[in-house]
Amino acid sequence: MINLLMFGPPGAGKGTQAQLLAAQFRLRHLSTGDIFRSEMGQGTELGRAARTYIEKGMLVPDEITVGMLRGYLKPDPAFRGFILDGFPRTIAQAEALDRLLGEWDSGITRVFSLEVPDEELKKRLRQRALTSGRSDDADENVIEHRLEVYRKETLPLKAYYARQGLLEEVKGVGSIEEIFSDICNRIRQLGI
Ligand code: ADP
Repeated sequence: MINLLMFGPPGAGKGTQAQLLAAQFRLRHLSTGDIFRSEMGQGTELGRAARTYIEKGMLVPDEITVGMLRGYLKPDPAFRGFILDGFPRTIAQAEALDRLLGEWDSGITRVFSLEVPDEELKKRLRQRALTSGRSDDADENVIEHRLEVYRKETLPLKAYYARQGLLEEVKGVGSIEEIFSDICNRIRQLGI
């Protein structure tokens, strides 16, 4: 199995790139943010639980998030593996992911970290708010809080994956096509 992680702050372009890469390399794209939003849209119990956190720019608790992802992370012969975006966001989630993939004698192939300066992120999120309909994009304070949560809870994962030799930093500023082609080249260099 090939399992890729898209890593980076809110607004870095993880979802955009993950979608393109999933199609290019026949990977199943899983975005915890998208799954939560779909559950919220359907008004499920999980969606209602997630909403209280998401609207404040907080992380949904690990038990809920990991429990949800477990249901999706099953090998599927139609795909060569997974590309995850928005997960893991805490060390506890990363450890849980290692265990879940371990159940399939699999692991993480590569982690691509999209590097984008804070000012550019804020600009993108403000722009996205105009069309996304996402309440967590619409409020400047919620955006600030998400960036703060990212720095505190999620950024330590970079060291976690760097230690394992899995981390690749990618320039996340430029056109979507340029960034996509950069990541594609890196994946091809892995011999995949
Ligand atoms: P962004 O990358 O712009 O923050 P996402 O769609 O990835 O957008 O996430 C939106 C929100 O969903 C997050 O702010 C958080 O509240 C929740 N969420 C998504 N993934 C996770 C996760 N792995 N752990 C906890 N909460 C999550």
